[in-house]
Amino acid sequence: MDFWRNRPPAAILALDSGLEETDWIMAKKRLGYVKLIWTCPRCATRNPGPNKFCNGCGAPQPEDVPFEQPAEAELIKDSGELARAKAGPDIHCPYCGGRNPAGVKFCGACGGDLAQGKARQKGRVVGAYRAPSGATRPCPACGTPNPLTSLKCSNCGSALPAAEGASPAAPAGAPPAKTPLLIGGVAAVLCLVAVVVLGFLFFQRDERSGIVESVAWERTIEIERFGPVEHQDWQDEIPSNASVSSCELEYFEDQPEPAPVATEVCGTPYTVDEGSGFGEVVQDCTYRVYEQMCRYTVEEWTVIDTRRATGDDLNPEWPEARLAANGERTGAEHESYTVTLRSDGAALSFAPSTAAEFAAFARGSQWTVTVNGLGAIVAVEPAR
Ligand SMILES: [Zn+2]
Ligand SMILES: [Zn+2]
Ligand SMILES: [Zn+2]
Repeated sequence: MDFWRNRPPAAILALDSGLEETDWIMAKKRLGYVKLIWTCPRCATRNPGPNKFCNGCGAPQPEDVPFEQPAEAELIKDSGELARAKAGPDIHCPYCGGRNPAGVKFCGACGGDLAQGKARQKGRVVGAYRAPSGATRPCPACGTPNPLTSLKCSNCGSALPAAEGASPAAPAGAPPAKTPLLIGGVAAVLCLVAVVVLGFLFFQRDERSGIVESVAWERTIEIERFGPVEHQDWQDEIPSNASVSSCELEYFEDQPEPAPVATEVCGTPYTVDEGSGFGEVVQDCTYRVYEQMCRYTVEEWTVIDTRRATGDDLNPEWPEARLAANGERTGAEHESYTVTLRSDGAALSFAPSTAAEFAAFARGSQWTVTVNGLGAIVAVEPAR
């Protein structure tokens, strides 16, 4: 059952492929192609994307006139149009500027060599895709209602203006505002100043004399018992000697491919300019994978108690373990020591790491203490 989980974690894959994690998790679902439109800069006529010349005045589409998303568009079914949509971006002739389909060697308008021609931009998001809704708008010339997908009046042939709700602006990829950049810059400078100041204080040294005022120690021993312990984990992580009590499906992770137990979550479909007068309608989808999360019991050692001994002298001792007759053992042991020195009226605390080191700090003894700018002890030596 684990065939779809035998792969590296998403974060590692994302690093390997140089993609953002979200890019990796999202799968692009291709819904089809639509005809885009372009607006003639000479006469403002809106033309079907595949048209290389304006329906109104006959002028060719200039290189810098972008394709736009129509208010509503039908997915293309015609196989010839589909082939043209997938052919790749059109090329503008370097001599006359005319638009030519991808793969053509010589300009259809002037016969010029297209080897140096400039391919149209491809991949820009032109807007959220809207399927035909059946809504209409009246022709400004004769009043006949026309569907939002039409560019020309079905009755009189007049050019129809852009419908409300047409979305030439791309929903994604807006340039970031300048203000957050400025705030970010100020924050970065403040951070740098803070690091410099802290670094200075950290490395600053101040020697003073101190007298041991008090000492303290603590030693602990953990007591462990062998017995059943309940755990929870994904089904395939459960040890073989466990007895499973119950399992239920829980969200595991998002991934780009469908899985046996997964729900598909998709964003709004949007249209991407193919550079050919057509747009590809895509949708970003992710699959929420569910797996069995189980409760299980295993027999193992667990900490059931901690024995503790403390004191304020220089003779630390280990506490008595006092184990039950069977099924118990001692576990981890810990020791900690504290010395408090009085220096210039202030109390400075210091933690020797071993019992041998601790033993030298007799109450009332004199020491030379080195303190950094942050007030922390960095060295303690016998007074000379
Ligand atoms: Zn025109
Ligand atoms: Zn040409
Ligand atoms: Zn009309």
